[in-house]
Amino acid sequence: MSATWSNWAGTVTASPEVLRPRTPEALAEAVRDAGRWGRRVRPVGSGHSFTAIAEPADLQLSLEHLSGVLAADRATGRVRVLAGTPLRVLNQALDLLGLAMPNLGDIDAQTVSGATSTGTHGTGAALPGLSAGIVGLRLVTADGEDRWVDERDPALFAAARVGLGALGVITEIELACVPAYRLRALERPDSLDAVLPRVQELFDAHRHFELYWFPGTRRVQTKANDLVGDDVHEPLAEWRRRLDDEFLSNTLFGAANAVLTRAPRAVLPFNGIAARALTTRSYTAASHEVFCAPRTVRFVECEYAVPRESVADVLTDLVAWVERRREPISFPVEVRVAAPDDLWLSTGYERANAYIAVHQYRRGAFREYFAAFEEIVAAHDGRPHWGKMHALGVEELSRLYPRLDDFRDVRDRLDPDRVFANDYLTRILGA
Ligand SMILES: Cc1cc2nc3c(=O)[nH]c(=O)nc-3n(C[C@H](O)[C@H](O)[C@H](O)COP(=O)(O)OP(=O)(O)OC[C@H]3O[C@@H](n4cnc5c(N)ncnc54)[C@H](O)[C@@H]3O)c2cc1C
Repeated sequence: MSATWSNWAGTVTASPEVLRPRTPEALAEAVRDAGRWGRRVRPVGSGHSFTAIAEPADLQLSLEHLSGVLAADRATGRVRVLAGTPLRVLNQALDLLGLAMPNLGDIDAQTVSGATSTGTHGTGAALPGLSAGIVGLRLVTADGEDRWVDERDPALFAAARVGLGALGVITEIELACVPAYRLRALERPDSLDAVLPRVQELFDAHRHFELYWFPGTRRVQTKANDLVGDDVHEPLAEWRRRLDDEFLSNTLFGAANAVLTRAPRAVLPFNGIAARALTTRSYTAASHEVFCAPRTVRFVECEYAVPRESVADVLTDLVAWVERRREPISFPVEVRVAAPDDLWLSTGYERANAYIAVHQYRRGAFREYFAAFEEIVAAHDGRPHWGKMHALGVEELSRLYPRLDDFRDVRDRLDPDRVFANDYLTRILGA
């Protein structure tokens, strides 16, 4: 059946034929058939990548029926899930089991396979991205072979955990989870000039630390999340949560953006007002409730990982660019940190990174802003997030990701006929 598909940001649309297998075996059969008939297949999660990485070239393979927890061992924390499980569903199931993910990004709409396939990460100096928590995965390759991949095959395991959907279709994932934990979030307004000189210290002082800088101002909002005991319950009043997270961050922000698109010169002054309106708040909650919040205002985004020591230089250059150009950028810039890992195509491959993400309202002008940002991070060996917009191709990427050629060798071996190819993969990995 064919249907119009679009990613969350609305930057990619297609009308593919869609297959929705109900079991891993049916999925393997569908891949085998596609290979036999010379068709191209693209697995898709919840379409939250801003790039065209999930764009179907021919057949789209939806994993919407492959959702749910298959097995859980509370003693070891090992949890096996179907690959199409949305993080929101996973978090609720883990809660019931007394378990949790060691870290998460800022939304929970992605599928487990989609999030890990692009190297999705949260923030935390001692915590790598989500893919590093995979202890095994079930992979259907282009020839229809259905195999379990884990540390017994180190090369394939290092490639497939951030596999970009280029090596095969993942149908199950086993994750290393941790006992459920509660966090205290402390969000406070501050000045960029006070925070930047201390940013490395702040990264290390908290289990999770991030900051948002408001373009056109020297104001930031910081968010530090730290462990608290299970008996500490200081929830945010419901009216405050609704006011801050639903009304101010989404409803009012969305309405303001829609108006500001027609009055670009008002955008930077508006940021000053918005930043001044932010206040301090502190609350405790289950970890996933602290990490994830709804995002209803659609935007586009570009995010790069740079060595964490470079973060102040990158921000200083970006601030200078915005001050010089006065471009109407209505979304804050987000800054996070993560620990290194050993996954070949992870932004964190053998490097402790800071992550800097620039956003723009989906109807706002973003090309010059993103291009200027990409030029700034290029001077610091910035590695792009695979799910977020960037302009790099295979040549530049081979220099930034030292194992890219090894990944391409695995791809040649597993998918010689490029059953899983699309234009984005051709750009970043070669034909
Ligand atoms: C509002 C918003 C907030 C975000 N927040 C964060 C954040 O905090 N941190 C961060 O790092 N990123 C963040 N992202 C980016 C997002 O996590 C990634 O783009 C992620 O890949 C989206 O997951 P998905 O399920 O939508 O996958 P899709 O975008 O549908 O697919 C992504 C890739 O995974 C592949 N894939 C999907 N399923 C399979 C499978 N079963 N087998 C093999 N390959 C598969 C697809 O082919 C594609 O290549 C955010 C995105 C949005 C829109």
